[in-house]
This record gives sequence, C-alpha cells and structure tokens, in this order.
Amino acid sequence: MKGFTVAIDGPAGSGKSTIAKVLAKKYGFTYLDTGAMYRMMALYAIEKRLDWNKPGDLARLLGETTLDIRKENFFLNGEDVTRSIRTPEVTEKSSPVSTVREVREKLVEQQRRIGRGKEIILDGRDIGTVVFPEAQVKIFLVASPEERAARRFKEYREKNIACTYEEVLEDIRNRDRIDSTRKESPLRKAVDAVEIDTSHMTIEEAAGAISALIDSRLRDYTSSENIGGGHEIL
Ligand code: C5P
Repeated sequence: MKGFTVAIDGPAGSGKSTIAKVLAKKYGFTYLDTGAMYRMMALYAIEKRLDWNKPGDLARLLGETTLDIRKENFFLNGEDVTRSIRTPEVTEKSSPVSTVREVREKLVEQQRRIGRGKEIILDGRDIGTVVFPEAQVKIFLVASPEERAARRFKEYREKNIACTYEEVLEDIRNRDRIDSTRKESPLRKAVDAVEIDTSHMTIEEAAGAISALIDSRLRDYTSSENIGGGHEIL
C-alpha cells in the first residue's frame, strides 16, 4: 500500500478543516491541519517579539523550534499551544509568517514526512500544488469573503473571543491578499483540482460532494492497491 492523499486547499473560512475532519473520521484517514503549523510559527514570532517589518528574520529562529502534533493537540517546543494558536492576533500574523521561504521549506518537509505512505487528508493553501502534487483527490474550496467572515465571527463568539464582524472581515480580506500574492507557493487552485463553492452549502452537503469524489478515486485505486486503515487525527 502506497498511501492515498486527499488535498483540500482554499482561503480562510472556506470550511476546509471542519470538512476535512468529517471526512477523516468517515474514511478512517489521518488528518493534518497544516495551517496550525504556520500558526505555531506565528505564535513563536510573537513570543520572540519579531520585528514585523522584517518577517524574514524569523528564518534565524527556525532552528529553535520543534513542532509536534499529537492527536488533536499542537505542541510548540513541548508546550501545548492548541488554544493559543487560534487567537485573532496569531491568526493575523500567520499570513506574513507563511511568506518566508525558509519557514515554508521546513514545514513542507515535515508535512511530507508525516503524510508519506499514509491514507491522509491534509488541508492548507498549497497541498495540491506543492506539498502533494500527486494527491489522488484535490479539492479547492471557496466561499464569499462575507460568508467566510460570518463563519469565523460565529466561531470567535462561541469561544468568547472579543472582536467585531468588521475586524474579522478585514482580517480575511488581508490574509486572502497576502496568501494569494506571495512569491512562495501562493494560494491557487491546482489545474487538476475540483472547485467547490461552499457559500450556500452545509458542512454535510460539502462533505457529501467530496465523498463522492473520494469514493470514485478509491474504487479505481483499490482495484490495483490494497488499502490498510487506522483513523488518527494529527
Ligand atoms: O488554515 P489557517 O487559516 O489555519 O492557516 C493560517 C495561515 O497559514 C493562512 O492564513 C496562511 O497564510 C498560512 N498557510 C499557508 N499554507 C498552508 C496552510 C496555511 O501558507 N498550507
């Protein structure tokens, strides 16, 4: 068995991680949230008081960081940062951090190491284009900025994080701009990815549409390969 990769890319708030988790559970695949890795680097940069006019300085700090992912928890240099990487401040800073070539190289290498040979679903911005261009299923999720901001705003309110809808919308627009115009691995749809607009879809509907694609690829794949399982959330 050589593994089976599902790549889900798209902008912030398009539903990637929620849908990826539903699918990982359904198929018994491992799930890797690559955005959380960039968030851990952003948290480290904040802690180290990085000069945000020089995000490239972060490259110097890379050797000091160890990122571990165990089940649904994220560890930065051994400390559980699962909650602290979801604050609006870390969210905002994760985009400039992810423009740094050295950061991307280190994280992409780790993502490949984790994913190689597994049945895995990864979500991010560059999975289908850079990390696993040979993925068996490639999805590009989109939704309007207003809808994505409304979803993120609801999430923050549920977690009692103080912010306004306007601030969240501005952050989404700002991250969209940085993510899609950066030089290193910009956010874009792989030529062979299937685009799904989730603006007017429920999670179940979007997961159902992707399941149909996975099922069809799995049928082709398992006719020549022997799939082994084991659900794990990384
Ligand atoms: O997916 P999430 O919103 O948690 O990602 C946080 C940030 O990390 C994104 O705004 C993006 O700049 C960056 N990212 C990336 N490549 C990935 C995943 C996330 O550049 N594969």
